[in-house]
Amino acid sequence: MARQKLGQHFLVSEKALDRIAAAACGSGVPLVVEIGPGKGALTAKLLPLAGKLVALEIDPGLVAYQRARFGDQPNFEIHQQDAVQAEFSAWPGAVIVGNLPYYVATPIIERVVRAGVPRAVFLIQREVAERITALPGSRAYGFLSTLLQFMAETRLLFRVAPGCFHPPPKVDSAVIELRPRERPVAVPDTEDFIRFLALSFHLKRKTLRNNLSERFPKTLLDQLPATSRRAEQMTLEELAQLYRTLVNDTPDKLQVAP
Ligand code: SAM
Repeated sequence: MARQKLGQHFLVSEKALDRIAAAACGSGVPLVVEIGPGKGALTAKLLPLAGKLVALEIDPGLVAYQRARFGDQPNFEIHQQDAVQAEFSAWPGAVIVGNLPYYVATPIIERVVRAGVPRAVFLIQREVAERITALPGSRAYGFLSTLLQFMAETRLLFRVAPGCFHPPPKVDSAVIELRPRERPVAVPDTEDFIRFLALSFHLKRKTLRNNLSERFPKTLLDQLPATSRRAEQMTLEELAQLYRTLVNDTPDKLQVAP
């Protein structure tokens, strides 16, 4: 892939770099995985705070650059790898951090969260950060909010202006933090609940009754007052409650395949 397509906007603000490193590592952590280290501006801040740092970079030229810059540091390791395909469970207990390439930020975040890592700190496009951390009833709240909030506590930490990068991106950026949920949302089938969430938000302006009628019998949906609302007005717990009711009351044979 051509370099300009790899989302190579390098962070140059010392203040932003220090804040991200502190948010990820505090005063020190045993293991850090950095996604997209680029030329190593953030790597240099993370290395003194990490017992060990594993960097994943897709661009072979930047992997060579990193090896030349940090190869003599005993706690540094780099892999030429596509982070979208990475198995994060290979680094148990690691904090995951990165100034992510925006074109693949969402699949990388989903993969990291699914691996159940103890903490992740990412610099991403501000609009995506707002969607990930949005609350019901807000304009940004949608499927991505519920998908990630189902699996993680999400928090927007601070914003980063385009002038903090070289070259500056066309959009604003923000740093988010993800941690495993303290109180898991109880559903009988995790993957099926995720499909249910996707269907609930399928047409954002339609009611749940409308969106869910593709899968559940209309007679059942009509009996449940919550289905006259739109998914964007419902909390995750309310959506889970509705899901539990619908799957309990709908024997498999009555469900239309999604
Ligand atoms: N961390 C550096 C900084 O802040 O200066 C660079 C961040 S830049 C926004 C994104 C980096 O991710 C680039 O180095 C790019 O080559 C790398 N990258 C792009 N796609 C990737 C992928 N799928 N897997 C791993 N790294 C990727």
